[in-house]
Amino acid sequence: MTHFDLFVIGAGSGGVRAARIASGHGAKVGIAESYRIGGTCVIRGCVPKKLLVYASHYGEEFEDAKGYGWSVPEMPTFSWPDLIAAKDAEIDRLNGLYIQTLNNAGVEIYETHARLLGDHKIALGNEVVTADKILIATGGTPFIPDIPGKELGFTSNEAFHLDALPKRILIAGAGYIATEFACIFAAMGVEVTQGYYKNQNILRGFDDDLRETVMEQMRAHGIDFHLGAALTSLEHKNGAIHAHMTDGATLETDAVMYAIGRLPNVDNLGLAEAGVEMTERGAGIVVSYSKTNVDHIWAVGDVTDRIALTPVAIKEGHAFADTEFGGTPREPDHDWVASAVFSQPEIGTVGLTETEARERYGEIDVYRSKFRPMKNVLPGRDDRSLYKMIVDKASDRVVGVHLLGPGSAEIMQGIAIAVKMGATKADFDATVAIHPSSAEELVLMREPVSQ
Ligand code: NDP
Repeated sequence: MTHFDLFVIGAGSGGVRAARIASGHGAKVGIAESYRIGGTCVIRGCVPKKLLVYASHYGEEFEDAKGYGWSVPEMPTFSWPDLIAAKDAEIDRLNGLYIQTLNNAGVEIYETHARLLGDHKIALGNEVVTADKILIATGGTPFIPDIPGKELGFTSNEAFHLDALPKRILIAGAGYIATEFACIFAAMGVEVTQGYYKNQNILRGFDDDLRETVMEQMRAHGIDFHLGAALTSLEHKNGAIHAHMTDGATLETDAVMYAIGRLPNVDNLGLAEAGVEMTERGAGIVVSYSKTNVDHIWAVGDVTDRIALTPVAIKEGHAFADTEFGGTPREPDHDWVASAVFSQPEIGTVGLTETEARERYGEIDVYRSKFRPMKNVLPGRDDRSLYKMIVDKASDRVVGVHLLGPGSAEIMQGIAIAVKMGATKADFDATVAIHPSSAEELVLMREPVSQ
């Protein structure tokens, strides 16, 4: 029976990082993956999504070029199958690079489902291996509602492989995935309705101002919202899909996409046999310092009950490997994690929302700037950007920055460093602006709009 120092289950962002680093520290490492090496982010998440986002911007760019003196005689045409083929080729390349990285690091790859058997044993098809330490990094999987006709809908997994773009789509959900795909499809000419079961703005957890403004802008880009109702059933009727909603409405559409959250990937993993504890609602494996309640089993990434973001999983995997095999113990840091929603316009955010900051600090200053990015002026495009900064009055520390507008993700990465370092409003004010740019607004906000 082959024995490893470390066996990693799941070769996504967190698992691959942990395996590679542990192997570099001298451990004998094996890794199992039942789908494709690279995991959700690389194969059917962040990376292919961003390629679709890039593709979806071109329509607007062609239109706007006219404002800058370019003649665009007729609207260029777009081929979804060509885009998907190009995207697939890139994903194959990345998949190959991930395999190469693991091979170069001396990690033994098992392209099969792994199941814990208890007592350090792992079943890999017909083979059983043992390991001193086991890392679960199996990620998450889209949640599919248990409604009549549910098979008529698809999830983000399938969205990357549609044969053709539908004429109309109903996207259920209001988080990152629903919002990003609503914008991608709308920019590619699909009639989009986003259905959210609450009678409020999408993107719960983000700053309310941004939530309201992003919806305003998405509406201006032709996206319709059906608020306050969830799906109850789907049926095929007269060549269309009829989506029945809890408010009694029936929405006629050609495709339905579920983006109503993701569940930890723990099916048939043998967690019960191994005695690993899950949260009550299946939100993930409970960990402390990436360690489960079982002494030799750890978990990182979306399968745990922490922040479900690729760079967080990578940090967790790296910290685990350094701690357990590198002799440099450290805890993954989950404070001041910035994130972006690749909606149109794009969102970049770090720290507390205005509401959260008020609750935590009491006295805050809120700086806000809503403006038309310079690039939009000549084409006559009306899209506005919204920048918000939240400052703790007592310490002058910037405790939240929320950006809506082109390039917000890129801008936010630099801002996140400053905020994590504890920059004050005075530090921002003392920074010379880069002119002309949108980002300069962040160092030119002088008067708080509310306190
Ligand atoms: P989220 O958990 O972020 O969002 C699920 C959304 O669906 C919520 O808005 C939720 O509303 C809503 N919802 C729940 N039930 C229903 C229903 N029956 N009808 C309509 N809406 C419903 O999940 P996602 O699937 O969007 O994303 C999963 C994870 O992937 C996220 O946690 C994110 O961290 C990560 N991700 C990150 C990206 C990025 O960094 N750009 C991109 C894509 C994914 P409510 O919250 O009000 O309950």
